[in-house]
Amino acid sequence: MLDLKKLLDGSLESLDFSVEIQDCDFVDAVSCKASACGTITNHSGLILLNGSIKPDAVVECARCGREISYSDEITLNAKITDKLANEDEDEFILMQDFAIDIEDIVRTALILELPTRYLCDEDCKGLCPKCGSNLNDGECGCDSGEHDSRWDVLKDFFGE
Ligand SMILES: [Zn+2]
Ligand SMILES: [Zn+2]
Repeated sequence: MLDLKKLLDGSLESLDFSVEIQDCDFVDAVSCKASACGTITNHSGLILLNGSIKPDAVVECARCGREISYSDEITLNAKITDKLANEDEDEFILMQDFAIDIEDIVRTALILELPTRYLCDEDCKGLCPKCGSNLNDGECGCDSGEHDSRWDVLKDFFGE
């Protein structure tokens, strides 16, 4: 927990934070670590948190399964309050006993902001549906389309 009392009573104008999360096993990745840092400032009673999260993840391409690294930065901007108003609660972080759980904030942001699907390349060719070869590494030599045996079975069935 990060104590905000000194910020709230005015003895500090801003407070820096940094957090390391060693194993983000709560996100869908082969492996994931993250570090976050930022500043919390008191603007005459309005407590603002500004920072960024740097993930260091290994994820799988949704098409070909190849492992790729992902490290796009996530921006953290939120207001900290002691009670939630009913509008736009997403932008608010609730403090408890004049403190916030910065690790929990980083974890939640990772869950919300990390993509749910990754591609090794926008043009990833994926895997051959017949032999399972990675088509990014070249043609596997399987016939594609017209001679798919599944269609032959259907043709037989309809007597064509
Ligand atoms: Zn791929
Ligand atoms: Zn193939």
